[in-house]
Amino acid sequence: MDHTKINLIVRLQHIDNQIEEIMSLQKGLPEEISALEEDLAFTVRQIEARKKIAENHRQLRTRLNGIIEDCKEKIRSFKEKQTLARNNKEYDALSKQIEYEEKEIAQAEIQLQDIAHAEHHAQELQKKGRELIAENRYDEISEEMMPDDVLQQQMEDLSEQVKLKKEELESIVIETAEEVAQLKKKLDEQRAVVTKEAKRLLDKYDHLRSGSMQNAVVKLDRQACSGCNTRVPTNRHTLIVQGGFYVCESCGRIVVHERLFEEAANEAGN
Ligand SMILES: [Zn+2]
Repeated sequence: MDHTKINLIVRLQHIDNQIEEIMSLQKGLPEEISALEEDLAFTVRQIEARKKIAENHRQLRTRLNGIIEDCKEKIRSFKEKQTLARNNKEYDALSKQIEYEEKEIAQAEIQLQDIAHAEHHAQELQKKGRELIAENRYDEISEEMMPDDVLQQQMEDLSEQVKLKKEELESIVIETAEEVAQLKKKLDEQRAVVTKEAKRLLDKYDHLRSGSMQNAVVKLDRQACSGCNTRVPTNRHTLIVQGGFYVCESCGRIVVHERLFEEAANEAGN
């Protein structure tokens, strides 16, 4: 039986494994970075929302204080006019206008109080949050309870973490770039050979790897497929030992003797 074809495909798997091993050095980092970035964005949104509320309050306060000042000014002028009123009718009309302005002031003051209450309430919630933090009861803290300074610190910490993780990933990518490039070149060459010599096996290999499966070719390990741990029938062991292959009935992987991987590794070393 000609086992050259299977050797070619094992060599291909060996190169793919090497690339995968290098990529695994950065495994988790891209995901970790995007998770941190999400947390950061969430924190930034919270801070921005608070800033917006504070700014709205500031503007509203300025406007209401302006209204109150205007009303007071009008009242002063109406009162002055009252001293000059020529008759009761004129005097009463001015009184009504004063009354109207006083109502306006009262309304504005209610709104100012509402703002003060809202701000006080927000501060109380943050105070509660601070207490919960001190007691390590983080899961009981609502968004609003997070104290401003803690939120700010959280944003700075997250930014720093994102920056560090990105630098770490970047350095791994740079460090391994050359090795990966060389392996990819080898992989292309090996694929060209396999395409010519064992196209059907290559199709099977690519089909297996088209999903999430990284290892299409695996070793026989303790008489089982090392991809899924399903036992390989005893009557197939001899063929595998002789250098042939077995297609796992359970996962479809190509099972070979580990010797073939050793040979592929040795060849790659040369
Ligand atoms: Zn299997």
